[in-house]
Amino acid sequence: MAQPQSWEQRAQEYSMYGFTDLPSVHERGTVVLTHGEGPYVFDTNGRRYLDSNSGLWNMVAGFDHRGLIDAAKAQYERFPGYHAFFGRMSDQTVMLSEKLVEVSPFPRGKVFYTNSGSEANDTMVKMLWFLNRAEGRPQARKVLTRVNAYHGVTIASASMTGKPYNEVFGLPLDGFIHLTCPHYWREGRPGETEQEFTVRMAKELEDTIAREGADTIAAFVAEPVMGAGGVIPPSKGYFQAIQPILQRHGIPLIADEVICGFGRTGNTWGCETYDFVPDAIISSKNLTAGFFPMGAVILGPELSDRLSAAVEEIEEFPHGFTASGHPVGCAIALKAIDVVMNEGLAENVRRLAPRMEEGLRQIMQRSSNIGELRGVGYMWALEACLDPASKTPFDASLSVSERIANTCTDLGLICRPLGQSIVLCPPFILTEAQMDEMFEKLERALNKVFAEVA
Ligand SMILES: *Cc1c(COP(=O)(O)O)cnc(C)c1O
Repeated sequence: MAQPQSWEQRAQEYSMYGFTDLPSVHERGTVVLTHGEGPYVFDTNGRRYLDSNSGLWNMVAGFDHRGLIDAAKAQYERFPGYHAFFGRMSDQTVMLSEKLVEVSPFPRGKVFYTNSGSEANDTMVKMLWFLNRAEGRPQARKVLTRVNAYHGVTIASASMTGKPYNEVFGLPLDGFIHLTCPHYWREGRPGETEQEFTVRMAKELEDTIAREGADTIAAFVAEPVMGAGGVIPPSKGYFQAIQPILQRHGIPLIADEVICGFGRTGNTWGCETYDFVPDAIISSKNLTAGFFPMGAVILGPELSDRLSAAVEEIEEFPHGFTASGHPVGCAIALKAIDVVMNEGLAENVRRLAPRMEEGLRQIMQRSSNIGELRGVGYMWALEACLDPASKTPFDASLSVSERIANTCTDLGLICRPLGQSIVLCPPFILTEAQMDEMFEKLERALNKVFAEVA
């Protein structure tokens, strides 16, 4: 009789993984998860892991938040699904849009819903292409982003993403231009101050606009803090340096707040933390605290007016997803915003962010192989380095960050390797004791791996 297959074997036989290093899965097997409690998840073998990545940045209220579960249940009872086409939409959609504009940095605005962050970025690009054509500027199609930016995986958002792995798809599409990553520690030149570096970033933008022609550019899109690029906060004064240049050339600044939005940096928005007001905001991930797939484009007043005028003219915006503005997603998002902003979650991030920074700084100081600690709020990265003084990385073939992350997993801590960095972005509910558990397991893993490779 055939042996019953394990969960690991069944997973590997029938399911595909996204963004997974296959050799390490073949060696280590698949972790199949069944449930969660607070910031912890449990696998089919009953092992518990502290998920210091909040799932994929999004499970900010943990894995069993009662209020969110109840909000979902109640809405499924009331009205389990509807669309937002043909002049109809659910009451929850109406309420969420009001709420999003209310909590946005905009005095007024309009919201369009998607199922993901990628689709929200593609939607933003289509909106700009649509309104530029309607305004008689069909050539204004180019999109400026930065190297290491992560904006998603659909065709436009993958083209916006500044990562080399998209070459396997023949992307980016033409007209998607990647500027230098504003990472002073890595990109700064010898002797260059951070202020001089920022000026150089602004000059590069100015030169790029001059070279390409301002009238061919539809937008500049940026995460306030780059997330999947390795938690890279902007260099000092970056947005203050670039925004006036964009404004002078009439190029909208779009903030991709999919990670930073709703509390990750300690404020409602990353743009608040970095003190700028964009022309539109892209939201997803935290929007529903990970309890429903949903994204949103939140347009500020000027883009709302221009898009509305363009739509009036053509009498339709021919775009939308079947589940755009799904009532259950909207009900969950309304609750998630309330939970994060009014039940002390964002407050917890603000209160404990200095403690998180300090704990990680001490780990860095006790190690000889951490080159940089960077981050803000509840998003941090430690960059492993063979020689921190000269910023010499480890040989890539050593897969140092993957080994650290795998060792953490063995110790019951989930964290993410990104390049040579280890990323920690725990749920906003993480307590002091849980933070100490994270520090302790992380340091044990770092010591073990550095002893093997350094
Ligand atoms: C995750 C992410 C996206 C893409 O969101 P998906 O829901 O995975 O499509 C876009 N932008 C940023 C900044 C992200 O972190």
